[in-house]
This record gives sequence, structure tokens and C-alpha cells, in this order.
Amino acid sequence: MPFLELKSLVRNFGGLKAVNGFSLNLEEGSLNALVGPNGCGKSTLFNLITGVLKPDAGRVIFKGQDITGWPPHSIARLGIGRKFQVPAIFDELTVRENLIVAGKRSNTLPLIPEILQQIRLVELADALAGELAHGQKQWLEIGILLAQAPSLILLDEPTAGMTSLETRATADLILNINQKRNITVLVIEHDMGFIEYLGCPLHVMSKGKILKSGDFATIREDAEVKALYFGQSREPADA
Ligand code: ADP
Ligand code: MG
Repeated sequence: MPFLELKSLVRNFGGLKAVNGFSLNLEEGSLNALVGPNGCGKSTLFNLITGVLKPDAGRVIFKGQDITGWPPHSIARLGIGRKFQVPAIFDELTVRENLIVAGKRSNTLPLIPEILQQIRLVELADALAGELAHGQKQWLEIGILLAQAPSLILLDEPTAGMTSLETRATADLILNINQKRNITVLVIEHDMGFIEYLGCPLHVMSKGKILKSGDFATIREDAEVKALYFGQSREPADA
């Protein structure tokens, strides 16, 4: 049984088919990357998985349970954590306090020192979150996710705006989360160097569904994928 089953998901906005028959199975403990041109429906897909949006058709099955259309808090409680493009942290609290707030509910307070190490913020544990650098805020948000003890993490462009050093550190963090904590991870990312470094299966999305899946080397040489990336700069907003 797959850990997460996405079955023929559809979501329309007016006449726009943002997600249009998206299917994917994720195995427990796996790491997968999702790429695709701007506007192809990646973030909408995450909204369908996390219950922020309800699909017009299709099913979301998590650990064998049909969670389609459940409210976001119920889905989060099942152990599905999601990182947004803009970090959701408390600026007025310290780094450690942010983790404590997140960890209280899940009884993960003993894990906080280890999480601080993983997200490279040990030395800044008592600094105000609002004063962190951009990349460090992104890591803190990943730390907050870890403190909530999820079994599946969805990351939406976690390296946006990062330097190349920060990007590499983020890739190491994701590998570490996946391998050491056995957390299943699905990451949306634009940076192909980042995905190559992760060395994980890659799924290319176009017009609301998967165009191709495979390993990085295969996908990079794929003619349809090349056409998608180099033949046009944006998805046509067709109805
Ligand atoms: P991606 O994350 O791949 O860049 P999105 O999922 O954000 O793409 O968006 C897919 C399409 O759906 C885009 O054309 C976008 O403008 C549209 N869209 C996304 N969210 C909404 C919404 N809440 N209302 C209307 N249109 C939306
Ligand atoms: Mg997006």
C-alpha cells in the first residue's frame, strides 16, 4: 500500500484547470521532487493534499485512509506537514521558543536540541526569529515542521531566495530529515542543481498533471521535458 496516493485530482478555478488529472503514489520513507513551469499547478496540488482547497474530482488517500476534502487541521493532525513559500514563524519569539510552541502539542520537546542542530541554529537559539537572515528563517520553519513530528513533509520551493551555500545546506537538511528520521518528503523545486544533488526521483508537471517521471539523468535528456522548459517560458492559461 502506498503511503500517499493521489488519484486523478482535479481542481478548477473558473474555467482554468489548475490541477487536471494528477496521479502519483509515494512510498513510505521516500524522497521525491516535483518540478514544472510557473502556473502548472504545483502549489494548488499541495493545497489539495493539505485540505486548504477541496478537489473537484479525485481522491487523496493517506496511509490507506481517504482524507479527500478533510479540513486542514485534521489533515495536519494525521502527520502531514507543509512548508509555505513565505515562512510562518513568530518573529517576536526566539528561535527556541518557536520550536517549543510547535513541539508542545506533539510531545517533541526533548527533540528540540537535535532539531536546532539539524537546522543549523544552535548558536542563534536565543535570537529573535524576526532577526534571522532569510535562509535561516526558512530553516526555522522546517524545524517547526519537525517539532510537529510529521510523517510526511511537503516543501514548496524551500530554497527560494537562498544563496548557493544556503541552497546546498538545505539539500543536506532535506536528505537528513528523510534518511535519519524516515520522514517521507515531497519537494517542489526549481533549482535543477538542487534536485540533482538530492538524487531522488523527479516528476515533471505540466498543465495540471504529470508529464514525465524518472531519475534526474533520464528526465534531463527527455525531449518532451526539454520542449516544456525551452520551448516556452510560461504555461499558457488555457481553459
Ligand atoms: P505553481 O505553483 O505551479 O506555480 P499554482 O498552483 O500556484 O502554480 O497555480 C496554478 C494556476 O492556478 C495558475 O494559473 C494560478 O494563477 C491559478 N490559481 C492558483 N490559485 C488560485 C486561486 N486561489 N484562485 C484562482 N486561481 C488560482
Ligand atoms: Mg507555486
